[in-house]
Amino acid sequence: MVWLFKEWRRQRALDSHPLDPATWAAVVESFPFLRVLDDAEREKLGRWVALFLCGKKMHGAAGLMLDQAMRYAIAAQACMLILELDLDYFRGWVEVVVYPDEFLAPREYVDEAGVVHSHREALAGEAWLGGPVILSWADAAPGNIGDGVNVVIHEFAHKLDMLNGDTDGYPPLHRGMSRTAWFATFETAYRDFCDRVDAGEDTPIDPYGSEHPGEFFAVMTEAFFGIPQILQSQYPGVYAQLALFYRQDPAARARRVGQHARMAV
Ligand SMILES: [Zn+2]
Repeated sequence: MVWLFKEWRRQRALDSHPLDPATWAAVVESFPFLRVLDDAEREKLGRWVALFLCGKKMHGAAGLMLDQAMRYAIAAQACMLILELDLDYFRGWVEVVVYPDEFLAPREYVDEAGVVHSHREALAGEAWLGGPVILSWADAAPGNIGDGVNVVIHEFAHKLDMLNGDTDGYPPLHRGMSRTAWFATFETAYRDFCDRVDAGEDTPIDPYGSEHPGEFFAVMTEAFFGIPQILQSQYPGVYAQLALFYRQDPAARARRVGQHARMAV
């Protein structure tokens, strides 16, 4: 009954706030990792995007005016994470704040002598526990997304991680997934990745992932969606765990599209 009521409410929201088809189609085409979706996936993503925009408050900061395409672009990247899950994975918070470019966030730390130091750090994105997601449009816009680097996916992966507390690289796993397998896989891969970054290797996966296990999960999620075949070849165990968690196989999707492209030549 509860489920039926939720579906009814969602359908009402979709009926009263449909996406503009032309803007939506243009936004999907503007991101390589969305362009490879098949028709059913595009439709499903569009449904999540419309519901996301109904449920969240997205607004510009520092004079940035958000138009429809910008809203769709941010929501589409975020909703790729929950394409095969549910919008409830983004529960417990409502705000998305978008700055035109990198923004300054206050930082404080206490040194060994007990003295509090404060400074401001330039960030492309930030996710608060129980609070907003803050983004830089310059880093989230189509065309500005690097290979396997995506600030929107990164911050929303933190939101999934935070569903069970701290940003520690351990989101709530689905029934049937093994906590032991998750920890063993991620810990081994994290150690290896840190060794490679420390050795100065030019890794195709963002070296920022070596900062902390929580950052590693977010960066691996960026790679999972942005450069899935590279992640699958470098860390097949991590790829397999993320495929179970997100219930998607982006590497297979990329291969399928690659085959079609070759057949069309
Ligand atoms: Zn992060």
